[in-house]
Amino acid sequence: QDYLGRIAAHNPDINAFITVDPDRTLADARAADALRAAGNAGPLTGVPIAHKDIFCAEGWLTTCGSKMLANFVSPYDAHVISQFKAAGMPTLGKTNMDEFAMGSSNETSYFGPVKNPWDTARVPGGSSGGSAACVAAGLAPAATGTDTGGSIRQPAALCGITGLKPTYGVVSRYGMIAFASSLDQGGPMARTAEDCALLLNVMAGFDRRDSTSLERDKEDYGRDLAKPLAGLRIGLPREFFGAGLTGDTAKAVQAAIEQFRTLGATTVEVSLPNSGLSVAAYYVIAPAEASSNLSRFDGVRYGYRTPDYGDLTDMYEKSRAEGFGAEVKRRILIGTYVLSHGYYDAYYIQAQKLRRLIAQDFAEAYRQCDVILGPTAPTTAFKLGEKADDPVQMYLSDIYTIAVNLAGLPGMSLPCGFDSQGLPIGMQLIGDYFAEARMLNVAHQYQ
Ligand code: GLN
Repeated sequence: QDYLGRIAAHNPDINAFITVDPDRTLADARAADALRAAGNAGPLTGVPIAHKDIFCAEGWLTTCGSKMLANFVSPYDAHVISQFKAAGMPTLGKTNMDEFAMGSSNETSYFGPVKNPWDTARVPGGSSGGSAACVAAGLAPAATGTDTGGSIRQPAALCGITGLKPTYGVVSRYGMIAFASSLDQGGPMARTAEDCALLLNVMAGFDRRDSTSLERDKEDYGRDLAKPLAGLRIGLPREFFGAGLTGDTAKAVQAAIEQFRTLGATTVEVSLPNSGLSVAAYYVIAPAEASSNLSRFDGVRYGYRTPDYGDLTDMYEKSRAEGFGAEVKRRILIGTYVLSHGYYDAYYIQAQKLRRLIAQDFAEAYRQCDVILGPTAPTTAFKLGEKADDPVQMYLSDIYTIAVNLAGLPGMSLPCGFDSQGLPIGMQLIGDYFAEARMLNVAHQYQ
């Protein structure tokens, strides 16, 4: 009730939620009480959580930030939602996001932009901007996000919270509306690494309904939180500390590196020579997969249908023309182009080859270090509208995060200070496959 009160008071200013439904939240809270009464409480029973509106939740409006799904009430729960329900965590609401998770500023949402709680003239980052903003503003203690090219880590950085993208395949994508299926991964967003560990314990695990879900033993992601950092080898990629990284972000990350040395870690320079090509490779692969995934929105089975049409083809065309926003259409057009006969080899196959080279760069780096450290984003929160008309500038917001998705590695962002305007700065930790517990340990020791 306290969080619902804060949402009622402050959400009108920041627009972090698309849907709140206090009756449902309180019903979930009573279910948590019942779980506790039956002696089945876990560490998070009764703790409320907000869910990115990309996760299907039974009986909840599930819009994915789009007019296409503006009236879609999900008939089923995503795997992640059912895991949090089983843990007794009441749903506080569904959070705002860039349309179909395409964006880095939350400005492509059909439901209007989210405002950064640190300065409401600025963006919260994206696409999980509503989740980041609601945690930063104290409207929720935790939230879910998804990360295809940085959408957990970049908004976490711009809002001064902690967010983790797990190794691809650790969290089931069942019921998570697909953007680019080979890159999409759900993860926790919260105030601290310790909170993220508790949340990941609930989210992670094999699910046969996702064919890329990994069958691994359950682990406690918080098991190493208290471990000292003596002997830790931190890799600093030369390419992340070049000309693009300036000013307050560079200073804050350098200060964090000093602190890690004080905590007993050593640093080693590593190289990710192909990382400069990751944005280019991503903007072939992600649109290609999106153009295929979004073909399901045809006005026939569910979602928006134009009220006024002639034959079936006209109905498809008008429904898609009216239901999708400009950025989504741009991605569908790029994706269709790079997959088309005659261009497939020149673009799509080349991008897939780059993807492999980028993954090999990381494998090489992990011969010399345990975790990689760098900035999460090149700048702190920028002004609303500043990059909205310049897609290439917007795409460069994810220059440090995208390679991680292409390689399928785990990555997290945690706060590491403020710029001269008082805006939060995030640093990124990148782990080897399945090194989530180690990353959380490193982050917790810093925090
Ligand atoms: N900003 C990137 C994009 O627009 C990444 C988004 C994401 O991770 N969902 O595609």
